[in-house]
Amino acid sequence: MSESPISLYLVPTPIGNLKDITLRAIEVLKSVDVILAEDTRTSGILLKHLELSKPLQSYHIFNEHKAAEKLVERMKRGEIFALVSDAGTPAISDPGFLLVREVIAAGLEVQCLPGPTAFVPALVNSGLPNDRFVFEGFLPHKKGRKTRIDALAEETRTIILYESTHRLMKTLEQLSEAFGPMRQACVSRELTKLHEENIRGSLSELIEYYQTNSQKGEIVIVVAGKSEKREAKD
Ligand code: SAM
Repeated sequence: MSESPISLYLVPTPIGNLKDITLRAIEVLKSVDVILAEDTRTSGILLKHLELSKPLQSYHIFNEHKAAEKLVERMKRGEIFALVSDAGTPAISDPGFLLVREVIAAGLEVQCLPGPTAFVPALVNSGLPNDRFVFEGFLPHKKGRKTRIDALAEETRTIILYESTHRLMKTLEQLSEAFGPMRQACVSRELTKLHEENIRGSLSELIEYYQTNSQKGEIVIVVAGKSEKREAKD
């Protein structure tokens, strides 16, 4: 593996259930010189579980620009790296994009392994059309939030949003206001974990549900795109 022409591997890690690590992810983590981690403590726990001992180096959003330059220099000298995030696929609403861009610009090879990510199971579980969809990641918290939501009201593809537990209700209410309360949606909570749930219904039904049920944990919101027929009925 050390003769591999690949300088940087992006290695997806479980979003809850540790059994979701792939055989190839383990093989690559074993083979690289250094593992770059969003949080060395979190990734250290995973490596311990995999009985894998490897140098871990911190790589997070706060030092991404500077770190990327230095890492590319090391890659040019032949070091091979794997990047992992706390959970899921690196660079998907997580650090990684800048490093990938720098590595490609330097003429080096990057390879992202397929593996866990939250938005794919959420989209498929929703039962909403998935032939065309738009992944929006996290909505802006303040500036630009309303503009983004208003623009999404015209989106005809299924919309996927990442959300944190304490903003769930606010987001559902704002979506209901902008898209209409009858728009179909699904909230996927705690995917792959013991208390996984996928709650499907109109935005108003979801708001009602979460008034009396737990909103805790990690959340993906999937919303149907605008359809002429559906909006006419609303
Ligand atoms: N890189 C990750 C991926 O590939 O999905 C996403 C990282 S982002 C910082 C974290 C967000 O992903 C959470 O706020 C939530 O929206 C979503 N997420 C991660 N794990 C999840 C899970 N087990 N169930 C539902 N959503 C999850």
